[in-house]
Amino acid sequence: MDSIAYVNGSFVPLSEAKVSILDRGFLFADGIYEVSAVLGGKLVDNASHLARLERSVGEIQLKLPESIERIVEIQKELIARNKLDSGLVYIEVTRGADKGRDFAFPKGVTPTMIMFTSVKDIVNSASAKTGIPVITVPDIRWTRRDIKSVALLAQVLAKQAAAEAGAGEAWMIEDGKVTEGGSSSAFILTQDDVIVTRQNGSEILPGCTRKAVIKLAEERQLRVEERPFSIDEALKAKEAFITSASSFVQAVISIDGKQVGSGKPGPMTNRLREIYVDFARTTGT
Ligand code: PLP
Repeated sequence: MDSIAYVNGSFVPLSEAKVSILDRGFLFADGIYEVSAVLGGKLVDNASHLARLERSVGEIQLKLPESIERIVEIQKELIARNKLDSGLVYIEVTRGADKGRDFAFPKGVTPTMIMFTSVKDIVNSASAKTGIPVITVPDIRWTRRDIKSVALLAQVLAKQAAAEAGAGEAWMIEDGKVTEGGSSSAFILTQDDVIVTRQNGSEILPGCTRKAVIKLAEERQLRVEERPFSIDEALKAKEAFITSASSFVQAVISIDGKQVGSGKPGPMTNRLREIYVDFARTTGT
């Protein structure tokens, strides 16, 4: 059955949800997106995602067409209309459709805002139990990766290469260090039990799940270090894992075919995953 999507003020069947071919999201990737997880029909860490949405649109001088309060209402209405228990809500905001294709910002054009939902059993996914292989690819993206832009061609190519190699994610490498995954933040656990992930900056997207996992870990007196790490260090690590709204915390069991740690999801990854799932279940809104 067709789910319900939201397009510029209307709720419509997904198959009928359309925007103009002149939309700047389509022509220039002139837009921003966000993805929030849904668990038990509630939005997970949604305020963090909407704060990042506000920041990202601000960084490209784009104004949200609706208030944050109204965006939350629309997200909740979509969840209700689609009877979504577990899955994702996708939001995209673009600079809208002008009369032609001029690079400079158009005047008097209302931004486009669309949303749709997808069903995904994030907690019981098969790869959550087995962990995933990752491959490495050069990070060929632009230098403002802190903006959650819809210009995702580099990640499309990276994740296609991963899929072709039978891997679940691609870790992107710059100057010999891992920046992040194609659609996730990258972590390792060192032999002396330090959780390491790259510090925020323009080189990576500030992951909302990353932020929550760091906080939850520190609250439990676990040691966290925010710094870049190399693949060499990851291969010598006890464990490796990724975080994202669409996977929560997921073990990495090999990198470019070389085993990480025991080659199975490790105890720290499993523990952080349990802690995050509990956080998601108990704090959803
Ligand atoms: N890094 C990149 C490049 C991403 O695309 C994503 C999610 O899509 C993440 C990290 C994880 O961010 P979050 O935890 O907010 O989903």
